[in-house]
Amino acid sequence: MEKKSVGLYIHVPFCRSKCEYCDFYSIACKKHADVMEEYCQALLLHLKEASFRATEYEVDTVYFGGGTPSFWGDDPMRRILAEIDRRFSLRPDAEITLEANPDSMNLAALRRLRRAGFNRISIGVQNDRNEMLKALGRPHTFQQARDAFGMARAAGFDSISLDLMYGLPNQTPDQWAGTLQNVLKLRPDHISCYGLRIEEGTPMATYRDCLNLADDDTQADMYLYAASTLDSYGYRQYEVSNFAREGHESLHNLRYWLGGEYMGFGPSAASDFAGKRYTYLRSLRGYIDGIFGGSSVMAECDEIPLRERAAEYLMLRLRTRYGVEAGEYSRMYRMDFTPLEEIFQQLRKARYAVKDNGRWRLTAQGMLLSNPIIVALQEAQREATTPWKEHSAL
Ligand code: SF4
Repeated sequence: MEKKSVGLYIHVPFCRSKCEYCDFYSIACKKHADVMEEYCQALLLHLKEASFRATEYEVDTVYFGGGTPSFWGDDPMRRILAEIDRRFSLRPDAEITLEANPDSMNLAALRRLRRAGFNRISIGVQNDRNEMLKALGRPHTFQQARDAFGMARAAGFDSISLDLMYGLPNQTPDQWAGTLQNVLKLRPDHISCYGLRIEEGTPMATYRDCLNLADDDTQADMYLYAASTLDSYGYRQYEVSNFAREGHESLHNLRYWLGGEYMGFGPSAASDFAGKRYTYLRSLRGYIDGIFGGSSVMAECDEIPLRERAAEYLMLRLRTRYGVEAGEYSRMYRMDFTPLEEIFQQLRKARYAVKDNGRWRLTAQGMLLSNPIIVALQEAQREATTPWKEHSAL
């Protein structure tokens, strides 16, 4: 019997320091060997126990994210990967990614990771101006990012992604253009560009009114500029914020956007596996104690109704270049595509959507407006299915 495919996500909740804008679950700690080792042991046990639920699956992507996996160190990551290989059916050609920050990378560790099977690395660069990096609370310089990129190449990583941010305090469109040029000189294989969002509960939210931030129009111009510049350099936009050279799309992240199954491990990690969506406790201590004590580490667990999955299909796929297709939609969700087709026709007239090989997808302009477009489509979807819902409730 052919095995189904699943991706594994390992959350590493440690960072050197906390960035001003960050709302991911991570704790700023100096190297604290005891808790880091304890966490590694908890993950090893959790992976062993969970592997029995995945015997019908083949693992084709593994992603170490965080937090800062490179700050945790290469030794625990190599042990975790070896355990995954031992307990799960890990494909020999699996994509195995780690996230890294420039201030915690060194050539010897990268070489060991590469030898252990890691074949993709995503480096947090964010900007090429040191004063901006400092304002964001990033503990590294652009020169360190350049050096880190060189080390990753020297260690044999031939799939390197760089993360950038735009819409930063005091950042002008010209500065953003300069950042892109400086980063393109490195010739990375993949680039992610995220607009700064100020989330409640972060340090930056407490002084957001004092920040000189780009207005919405300027931020939109920066986004469109990045999309067209990267396209002219051979980086195809395959998701709202992600651009890749041929063959370098993130297969693990595509799994999230295309509705594939994944199992997450660690505090705050989410899973969508065997029909259920669940998230673990957002507490390192709670997670470790729960795993060793045999108690539940689940924070939430839901079975997602088909109707909700259909809404997610629209929301997630329209963020990618793969888009949506009428037959696929009707087959997977037993719902009529006609009302959506009408909206897509209007979007095509406004140049926000195109139809390629029978699939509707958004243009770069459309992706800029993806939120209201998706809301309109989901609204049409809800209206179209209401009579069925009333009937089925009888
Ligand atoms: S390095 Fe990443 S995870 Fe850590 S605090 Fe900064 S943004 Fe958050």
